[in-house]
Amino acid sequence: GNAVLFSTEHEAEIHRNGKIERALRAADLHKELSVVFQPIVDARTEKTVGFEALARWNSPTLGHVSPDQFIPVAERAGIVSRLMRVLLEKALTEAADWPDDIRLSFNVSNHDINSSEGVIRIIGIILKSGVDPRRIDFEITETASMRYFEQAQSAITTLKTFGCGVSLDDFGTGYSSLSQLHALPLTKIKIDRSFVTELHERPASYKIVKSLIALSRDMGLGCVIEGVETENELKALLGLGGFEIKGYYYSPPWPAAEL
Ligand code: C2E
Ligand code: CA
Ligand code: CA
Repeated sequence: GNAVLFSTEHEAEIHRNGKIERALRAADLHKELSVVFQPIVDARTEKTVGFEALARWNSPTLGHVSPDQFIPVAERAGIVSRLMRVLLEKALTEAADWPDDIRLSFNVSNHDINSSEGVIRIIGIILKSGVDPRRIDFEITETASMRYFEQAQSAITTLKTFGCGVSLDDFGTGYSSLSQLHALPLTKIKIDRSFVTELHERPASYKIVKSLIALSRDMGLGCVIEGVETENELKALLGLGGFEIKGYYYSPPWPAAEL
């Protein structure tokens, strides 16, 4: 709904996204898509409590393409739920082999939960996998939940009734409003990496993280802190109490066979 000055960068991006879209539409998704898993660690006990599933795409024509690139293209092309189905099946196949107390976090995009059919499809895949829905957390983003607020609300309620957890990803970076956060029946928030980087040397970041941890506690929500890369960051965080941590400090994502 806005006027935009069209630039050569826009043109290059359109070409790049066009290539990605054509390759995605032609892709053998079962063969080309895979899932890697990054540990989520309890900061107090240093035990792995779960893994976040992250999509990987190895295209025969484009090579490795990052999910930051192909997921938005798939969303715009209206084919993201086809990808989601394949990825969720693969992630659940692995999770079925893990110990019962290890959780699986799975990213869903707006489009996946934008209709009740989408949510029913997700539930169908879980039922088929035999994995206990109480072991699964779905990660949604603020942009998703705010723009399609009512649908998101009912999707979250359905998933929760089914036993799954629902986390708000990248908390603090989107179009969040605290009153809406309050109205969504979430189970966890995930504090974005941008607040965590060098927080031991950035008092503003430190205070934000501290407040968000207090907020999650007050609201009875779990809290995952993302993107912890250094010991200094971890040390600064440990003083703030109990929560879960994900980041290169503990481990990058790995293929299931390496876990
Ligand atoms: P996200 O959900 O916020 O995932 C975290 C991203 O940060 C991952 O990148 C992960 O590898 C990276 N990361 C983890 N720890 C660290 C750290 O300590 N430092 C730094 N610098 N980075 C860290 P990845 O795998 O490239 O995924 C990028 C984004 O793509 C994800 O962000 C998510 O929004 C999206 N995505 C990935 N897989 C899926 C999927 O299956 N479905 C959907 N809808 N989106 C996905
Ligand atoms: Ca995520
Ligand atoms: Ca995130």
